[in-house]
Amino acid sequence: MALDTPLRRLFDYLPPAPAGAGPEPLPGMRVRVPFGRQRLVGTVVAVTDSSELPPERLKPILEVLDATPLFDAHALELILWTADYYHHPIGEVLAGAIPKALRLGVGATETEEHWTVTPAGAAAHAAGEPRRAKNQRALLEVLIAAGGSARAALLDERGENWREAARALQARGFAGRSVAALERAAGTVRVRAAGPTLMPEQDDAVQQVGAAFGRYAAFVLEGVTGSGKTEVYLRLSERALAAGCGVLVLVPEIGLTPQLVARFRERFEAPLAVLHSGLTDAERLAAWRDARTGRARLVLGTRSAVFAPVADLGLIVVDEEHDGSFKQHEGALRYSARDLAVMRASLAHVPVLLGSATPSLETLHNVDAGRYLRLRLLRRPGESRPPLLKLIDLRSSAVESGLATPAALAMQRHLEAGGQVLVFLNRRGFAPTLLCTACGWIAPCRDCDARLTVHLAAARLRCHHCGAEAPLPQRCPQCGFAVKPVGQGTERIEAALAARFPTVPIVRLDRDVVRKRGDLEQVVHRMVSGEARILVGTQMVTKGHDFPNLTLVVVLNADQGLFSTDFRAAERLAQTIVQVAGRAGRGTRPGEVLIQTEFPQHPLLQSLLEKGYDGFAATALEERRQAEWPPFSRLAAVRASARTREAALGFLAEARASGERHAAGLRLLGPVPAAMAKRAGRFHAQLLVESRERRALHRFLERWVAEIGALKSAQRVRWALDVDPLELF
Ligand code: ADP
Ligand code: ZN
Ligand code: ZN
Repeated sequence: MALDTPLRRLFDYLPPAPAGAGPEPLPGMRVRVPFGRQRLVGTVVAVTDSSELPPERLKPILEVLDATPLFDAHALELILWTADYYHHPIGEVLAGAIPKALRLGVGATETEEHWTVTPAGAAAHAAGEPRRAKNQRALLEVLIAAGGSARAALLDERGENWREAARALQARGFAGRSVAALERAAGTVRVRAAGPTLMPEQDDAVQQVGAAFGRYAAFVLEGVTGSGKTEVYLRLSERALAAGCGVLVLVPEIGLTPQLVARFRERFEAPLAVLHSGLTDAERLAAWRDARTGRARLVLGTRSAVFAPVADLGLIVVDEEHDGSFKQHEGALRYSARDLAVMRASLAHVPVLLGSATPSLETLHNVDAGRYLRLRLLRRPGESRPPLLKLIDLRSSAVESGLATPAALAMQRHLEAGGQVLVFLNRRGFAPTLLCTACGWIAPCRDCDARLTVHLAAARLRCHHCGAEAPLPQRCPQCGFAVKPVGQGTERIEAALAARFPTVPIVRLDRDVVRKRGDLEQVVHRMVSGEARILVGTQMVTKGHDFPNLTLVVVLNADQGLFSTDFRAAERLAQTIVQVAGRAGRGTRPGEVLIQTEFPQHPLLQSLLEKGYDGFAATALEERRQAEWPPFSRLAAVRASARTREAALGFLAEARASGERHAAGLRLLGPVPAAMAKRAGRFHAQLLVESRERRALHRFLERWVAEIGALKSAQRVRWALDVDPLELF
């Protein structure tokens, strides 16, 4: 039995007494059990007839909460595997995999309340009774008009307070109330509109994946944005649905991919379960139930939807598989939903399709190793030329407000030719620094090793790491002299472009603009409709929007990713450039992409320019092989934070000492303070373990995690294990 406790173990209980009362507890069902003085909701993981404890010390289950298991066998296996692989308490993994209401013991199946007229009630009604109670008579009227019975929800919709009348009718024996489990018929699925005729590459992809239905196989669908990947997802979903199977589609961030959800809604007339972090508890429970009963055959969601109970799962799709959002990098359980999706596919014997314009190096390595099959969409429908990439040397051109002269001239040209322009800068706000020109004071965050970003329109200073805010000072708090914003943010670029192109409408897309549902769609709409001609944006613009009239992309600063201590920084930069470049020239117009840099000779930029993402990936993988970084080795990080630097580092030093005793064949690296050691008032540090071999790493972690948890110094820190960390801060 798994209980939601931080203990890394299962608990044994006896079946409920008396035997035979209520459903038999089976794996995947929730039960209520005594735990010390409390009563907890737990989930049965296995049923055995032996225990390490003597029978007299075992307590019986109090109550079995589910009539059927919450999870099918594969989903439960996935959860057990997750606990094992990420060395996390099983009870917490299970609790995290279900909606909150279910953790508290709410029924897994939806129930429905009905009110029905009794024969006595019908007779009374015919005789014009009850004469004096107007409300009761009206309600009888409604029930009879509805065929003698109505759902409570329907009566609620009528708005009046009908319950009092209903209870009175019940007392008179004129009406009865019943509550039944709602057995909604499995949603019927209809294809609204046939898709376009597939291009040969799309057709080939659909055939190959389709041929793998009913068994595990992993595919990588590689194609730039607009190459028709979504169309392939839709066709394969159609096949799976026609075969009576459910489909699970994972996306990085639902708010940023409304278009994908819309495409599924457009294509299929079928209930869709959409699961993401923006839902209320009630919405999440409803979506989860729909997925489990099969009412919704299509389940779309972010990270945690990988655990969703999809009835008769037949296909898994992971869109934008390279996206870092698939990795949970906060909290206690740090899992990769992409990797878990592949594991789930293998447990459930179904194909999984990983789509991306820029597959991660891990995924490409799996292709090289023969574990995944690569399918490529080379052409865009109706157009074949990829956009032209060019570098602009920032050292030899005049630069005004972050924009080099050649880039400004190109903008002019494209705008005059009727095209639209995207200006990309991965930094929101007005300026990243506020500087005193007299004494050199820089506005710092009190709680982080970071500068405060100037937000001019809001007249605020904000920390992008901890959220701290302060009013924007007019004078230096240190010497009283004038202060000035230094550097470029999207807000400033937007203002500079408005001054340079005064007649051209501009829109901006970043987290400051997109604050609530619908904001994003509005910005996208202004571009798509042609109302706006210039789009200034951050990373947000890279996510799956279609701007058919966009012909020029300017990347203002490519240099942030070139010289980082994180071995994945180059990969992320290349992916960003390719994704941003993918916005240009999507209609029939050819696109142009200008990348501003101070390092035009950098080998990464050169390989990207000359050989595209493929060439870059080959070079980068070779570098990783030589340096023995993942995917050529396995990593795990222990991250710790504490009020003081000493506590964080001291804990990790002890953890290292303890691990060293059984770390033969592994490398322990650190502890080191994080690149930004102080964040939100806490000091962050990490310790890395590297292993050539996955198995050896996990054998080591198994023992080590228990040792670390038992350290005295562990009490003074917050720590978490991160298996396969994505970012090495
Ligand atoms: P991606 O998911 O790779 O960005 P989409 O599937 O969204 O690509 O396709 C881009 C555009 O091309 C969409 O408007 C889509 O309707 C259209 N499209 C896709 N496949 C075809 C096809 N075979 N014939 C015509 N148009 C297509
Ligand atoms: Zn000063
Ligand atoms: Zn801060």
